[in-house]
Amino acid sequence: MKWVILLILSTVMLSQCGDAYVFEEDVEEEMIDYFTSFAIEGEERGLVIDWDVERIATQLVHIEEDAIGRCLTYEDGSKVINIDKEFWDNSSNLEKEFLIFHELGHCLLERSHNNVMNQRGVCQSMMNSGENICTINYNLNTRKRYLDELFL
Ligand SMILES: [Zn+2]
Repeated sequence: MKWVILLILSTVMLSQCGDAYVFEEDVEEEMIDYFTSFAIEGEERGLVIDWDVERIATQLVHIEEDAIGRCLTYEDGSKVINIDKEFWDNSSNLEKEFLIFHELGHCLLERSHNNVMNQRGVCQSMMNSGENICTINYNLNTRKRYLDELFL
């Protein structure tokens, strides 16, 4: 009996390792537009993204802590962005874009948090930690400036 269980376990591990990355399958359908938009904004700033090289997948999950998103890196170099389902379902397009771009900032641009703010306490980076240290002011008027800073 033990042997059978072992066999099943090893099969699961093998199939996980052998799975090729497919952008359209590994990124949640409702997040693909934000990924595409990230690539376009990056390209306009001189960064060409090959999703087959980056191998970033997404999962809509329930995140227990206060976090609404996170970037997980695995030993084989593949990465998964977890997005809290409740946040996602209750957010505007701009809020969703902000979160996906922030997590891609971690996962793809390898940026860490930056809570730099102006005199009025407004966050100057999309990579702020989201802990209310500074105020996020991401809207259609400030979007370009934030993206310039993100891809610097
Ligand atoms: Zn973050």
